[in-house]
Amino acid sequence: MILYKTKYYVSKEAIVGTGLALSGLTGSIISAVDYMKTAKRISEDKNNKETKRLRDGLVKNFKKKNGENNIIEAPDYGNAAAISMNYFENFIKKMETNKDFREKVEKEAETNPEFKASLYLISHADLTRPCIVYDPKLFDPATMSHEIGHTEYYETKENKDKNKLVKFTHRYPPHISDADNQSGLITAPILGGITGVVQGISNGPGKLKNGLITYSSIDAILLMIRELAASKRGLELLKEAGATEDDLKVFRKMLLSAAGSYFFNNLSIIGLELVSAKTGSWVVNKLKKLIKRK
Ligand SMILES: [Zn+2]
Repeated sequence: MILYKTKYYVSKEAIVGTGLALSGLTGSIISAVDYMKTAKRISEDKNNKETKRLRDGLVKNFKKKNGENNIIEAPDYGNAAAISMNYFENFIKKMETNKDFREKVEKEAETNPEFKASLYLISHADLTRPCIVYDPKLFDPATMSHEIGHTEYYETKENKDKNKLVKFTHRYPPHISDADNQSGLITAPILGGITGVVQGISNGPGKLKNGLITYSSIDAILLMIRELAASKRGLELLKEAGATEDDLKVFRKMLLSAAGSYFFNNLSIIGLELVSAKTGSWVVNKLKKLIKRK
């Protein structure tokens, strides 16, 4: 009886969406844990000469290319990031034009490692070149190589001939779906819900072909291209820094797990968007029927 009834309420999209969301979530947790376990083990092994040698090699090569002050340690930052020239351009502009923002940054810089690092870089780094900020506590050579790998696709003179699509994925602005982090899991249902409501109003029942779901999928694909390219380049940089075949095996596996966590996160984002879009259009159509009945 229940099955018969639910036939009318649970659509194919909703079932597929829920499946994607759940399997994506599980997959991204498994991959992220796998990556973090190895990263933590390597980072905590401070006496490992090989790890230290590779990290120093990567930093040295980066400095040679981008300047002494363009890579800095930010203790307690809890993360590692490649920073594009655009970012600082916007950051400085905001500091100059928005008094509240400037005061907030200056005040919080005392305790917030991210702002502290940004202020340091603004006054010390060569801002025509990319920068790297990293937490020395967490930073293993693979992650560092990946972040530096990103900077090799920023718009600089020597990157002029690099793959155009990969460079585009490093530059394109509308990260609406936040596919590269967990906040995408919050944005997705909102985007999906809005899409569904718009669809419900404009199309009526059963016509769920919408731009935003496509947008999320495209965003996810562009993100995967960007991340895989950074890792591929990162592995080459590790080799240049003197990594052995055995080292590379460990790092390759780590970077694949990291890419896996992005991939599965994307699946759950697309799934969530699908479910919430369907729900949104379903609610609107129910309301339409109710109004008609009156
Ligand atoms: Zn990345």
